[in-house]
Amino acid sequence: MSDPTRPKGPKIIAVANQKGGVGKTTTAINLAAALAEQKCRVLLVDLDPQGNASTGLGIDAEDREHTTYDLLTGEAELEDVVQATEMETMWIVPATVDLSSADIELMTNEKRSFLLHDALRQPAMDGYELDYILVDCPPSLNLLTVNAMIAAHSVLIPLQSEFFALEGLSQLMLTVREVRQTANSGLRIEGIVLTMFDARNNLSQQVEQDARDNLGELVFETKIPRNVRVSEAPSYAQSVLEYDPTSKGAEAYRSLAKELLAKNYKVAA
Ligand code: ADP
Ligand code: MG
Repeated sequence: MSDPTRPKGPKIIAVANQKGGVGKTTTAINLAAALAEQKCRVLLVDLDPQGNASTGLGIDAEDREHTTYDLLTGEAELEDVVQATEMETMWIVPATVDLSSADIELMTNEKRSFLLHDALRQPAMDGYELDYILVDCPPSLNLLTVNAMIAAHSVLIPLQSEFFALEGLSQLMLTVREVRQTANSGLRIEGIVLTMFDARNNLSQQVEQDARDNLGELVFETKIPRNVRVSEAPSYAQSVLEYDPTSKGAEAYRSLAKELLAKNYKVAA
């Protein structure tokens, strides 16, 4: 479902939050799958040295000869770093632990903050005719996350529905602002999505209220419920949409994808 009014090339979305365990990887995998289900052509870039997105989509460690690290440094051909997934219109660039040394190894590289930006805009990328690129960021505001924010058109922020959820957000917003002022003036907030939401829990509702009061329209209508099928899916090397298509988790990510598509059409119109 490509949008004829959008400027040429895929929309690049960084899935970021410097807190670990808030649902970045889960959201990156399942939103990508839900967009692919809507006939979008989607590339998921695993930018976390832990490689959870790669594992969760069944890319075995021995099949990660070429990784995001090679994408950043240009040491491998694009067709070697981009791998197919079980979904026809979804691809992944897997990561391994070698990414964890990127901060240090790239220190002397003048273009170190623009490596992902440039890699995702290389002409060979056109062959995939992508609609979206989702970047699964590591749990920190390091060089890798900055690369994602400089490469991206927008940042999508998963917010876990728990105490202190909003606290880390100001630091994240500050980083977004810095990136805007220095390297990527067009960077937008795609939206904030509440994850692991438990409707029976007062705290979840409080976090939602606070988020909507403070952040208004930036918060997606869709909330991702805490759902055991969501947490089980990666061990079957599937998105929750494939693993249990009618589960609450699959429904929620489908709804998030539709909301995101609707937002983007509106902006483009
Ligand atoms: P991050 O990438 O931000 O570190 P993850 O996506 O890996 O976070 O999620 C952290 C943990 O929470 C994982 O074990 C994941 O399976 C679980 N999880 C994430 N979202 C949900 C959900 N909606 N329901 C149940 N478990 C979830
Ligand atoms: Mg993760």
